[in-house]
Amino acid sequence: MRSKDIVIIGAGAAGLICAAQAGARGKSVLVIDHANKPGKKILMSGGGRCNFTNLYVEPDCFLSSNPHFCKSALKGYDQWAFIAQVDQYQIPWHEKEEGQLFCDNSSKDILDMLLADITKVNATVEVLTQLKSVEKQTIGFKLGLEKIDKKKNVISTEVIQCQSLVIATGGPSIPTLGATGFGFQLAEQFGHKVHTYRASLVPFTWNNEDKPWFSELSGISLPITVTAKSGKQFTNQLLFTHRGISGPAILQVSNYWQPGESVKINLCPSVDVLVELKRHQQTDGKIQLKTVLNQWLPKRLTDKLMERYFTNKKLAELNSNEMSLIANQLNHWHFIPGGTEGYRTAEVTLGGVDTNDISSKTMESKLVAGLYFIGEVLDVTGHLGGFNFQWAWASGYAAGKYV
Ligand code: FAD
Repeated sequence: MRSKDIVIIGAGAAGLICAAQAGARGKSVLVIDHANKPGKKILMSGGGRCNFTNLYVEPDCFLSSNPHFCKSALKGYDQWAFIAQVDQYQIPWHEKEEGQLFCDNSSKDILDMLLADITKVNATVEVLTQLKSVEKQTIGFKLGLEKIDKKKNVISTEVIQCQSLVIATGGPSIPTLGATGFGFQLAEQFGHKVHTYRASLVPFTWNNEDKPWFSELSGISLPITVTAKSGKQFTNQLLFTHRGISGPAILQVSNYWQPGESVKINLCPSVDVLVELKRHQQTDGKIQLKTVLNQWLPKRLTDKLMERYFTNKKLAELNSNEMSLIANQLNHWHFIPGGTEGYRTAEVTLGGVDTNDISSKTMESKLVAGLYFIGEVLDVTGHLGGFNFQWAWASGYAAGKYV
């Protein structure tokens, strides 16, 4: 029977950095993944250029029912530590908006770096391998593994022993990339609480009333400010899609949205519409409403709003009630999403393994000695912009240092 110091389930961002770090301490490490290659989400990320971290990582960029949990790991391995590693491998990168760091060339540079670190130490990655059973022993674990082929046929089974088991299986967003809720089931098997989880950093879909009006606007994008019921606010682009609304501002607010709630969208964040309408009315009352709105909004959006909510007339003909209604619609659109696009397109899973029973320093379970949880499987979710990878690196590093 093969025996390893550490087995890590999941060859994603967190699992790979953990393996390199633990291996560098002289531990024998096996990483298994049921997908056909490691790091599939890394390869897909950032539109193929991996937004690998953010210059402005702060604990308040993360959501968790235990908000202090992430602090120790984020401090122990911060964005500068990861940037130093990227620089050591001479991977060219650039800053996009708001401190987001992307590869100049390809996400593959980041994956190759992680795999290169693993080859330097006593660690191996085995893909197309599934964990079928876990048995806790007096010291360590006995694991039942299955090798599978691409058609998911079992080709061999193996029992392997390890002292420590690290769960780095992420969350169920984008199942076609190998994502599963396996980590949550395993956590529950060992008595861990799992917070309700859902797709997040995800586009909203239309409700039935808005759909017939706005679905034709697919492709239009504009800068907006969106505010969640909690008051959390984001200013960035909104993109109309056939199914609903997307774009960075909408993905960000989806972390703070609960089904049934509305979000408040300011379609003209740099314009106080009521003030401007009144000003135009006094200086140029003959101008048509539509002409004024076209100064602030894409033309197709103006057309649709006019069709649905307003009558086109000269500004001089608008009474103050009508002006308030127009201003309200533009500066305070209360949009009730029909739902989200779900795990099919979500960048992350919000919620997960309760962190109260996990050591924030080592990521070890407080309930089961030798069992660790890292990365997205934990109830820690970052904003859009490189924060989720930074959490994967930081929590993976923390576990790799102590496991
Ligand atoms: P993952 O990277 O999801 O890795 C989990 C691994 O476990 C996978 O390889 C999976 O195959 C494996 N696994 C799952 N179940 C099993 C099982 N039962 N047995 C064996 N193996 C299993 N974040 C950013 O910060 N910046 C970005 O630019 C960015 N872009 C993204 C783009 C997309 C399309 C998506 C989906 C996500 C993006 N994210 C981004 C989020 C980021 O990818 C994740 O938060 C991060 O990968 C989580 O790392 P992880 O190691 O915890 O999990």
